[in-house]
Amino acid sequence: MVDGLLVFLQGPVRHIKAILVEFWKINKSTTIGAPRSALRRAPTFRSAPEKMLKQCPIMCSTLRWNLEDEIMSGSLSQPLRRKVRHVNPRTVGHLGNGRLLSLVLPPERRGPLKLLCLGAHADDIEIGCGGTVLRLAAEVSDLIVRWIVFSAAGRREAEARNSAVAFLENISEKQIEILGFRDGYFPFQGTDIKDCFEGVKRDFDPSMVLTHWQGDAHQDHRLLAELTHNTFRDHFVLEYEIPKYDGDLGNPAFFVPLTRAQVERKVETISRYFTSQRGRSWFSDETFLAMARLRGIGCNAPEGLAEAFYARKIVF
Ligand SMILES: [Zn+2]
Repeated sequence: MVDGLLVFLQGPVRHIKAILVEFWKINKSTTIGAPRSALRRAPTFRSAPEKMLKQCPIMCSTLRWNLEDEIMSGSLSQPLRRKVRHVNPRTVGHLGNGRLLSLVLPPERRGPLKLLCLGAHADDIEIGCGGTVLRLAAEVSDLIVRWIVFSAAGRREAEARNSAVAFLENISEKQIEILGFRDGYFPFQGTDIKDCFEGVKRDFDPSMVLTHWQGDAHQDHRLLAELTHNTFRDHFVLEYEIPKYDGDLGNPAFFVPLTRAQVERKVETISRYFTSQRGRSWFSDETFLAMARLRGIGCNAPEGLAEAFYARKIVF
């Protein structure tokens, strides 16, 4: 049961209204807001506070919502089933015109949103979730960021720091740490890295953690993913993906739509600062744009671009 969750529903007003009715029936204590157009045209929901919509006009994620499963399983009421009966049962996650339901950040947060970004190597955070960081920076006014890169030797240290500064340039409260663990040997430095996590936990309680995917083929990435969940056990953790030679991409289910400007800024910043990586065959603008485009397709993003994450646990 979530109180104060703001749900944006995109689609024909009649569908929005029908779905709001269903939400309301399931949990009357949940505060439900509707798009301004739906509020105007569906008087029943005028009580959804416009003020709340103004306070939280952003969507931080897209939840794939398989409405067809709901229809097939009979968990929706007969009137709603009638309203969406024209939906093709073979389309997954689509409602009527092909839009997905989206979740937003809670409208009434207590204090600032504290974001913890964790990356094993110099460019991991930027590649995996740089666009999401740019979007949060643009849409959340009181954002505090702690950004930790665990391994960046030689010229990569300066690259990592300069890139982090560029990605976080519009955020006033930030802490960037570039550590010196040995690249490729994280599993054998586990005690020291674990101590580092415990130190972070003592003085930073994040609202959101962006870290590596636990199924990543790189041993350093996997160790950070494991220690993230080990350390931040009741936190909101999203695991980003890194394309690589090993071919370990999977099917993440948590999507963050991005604007073209955000993706272009991400790619340009990575390209500008990580000059030591230019010789690598996979390290190219095309790789990062292709990833964003594919993930944008996966969530029907408005501008066709997105980043995607794995989530071990999300509470609705
Ligand atoms: Zn890495």
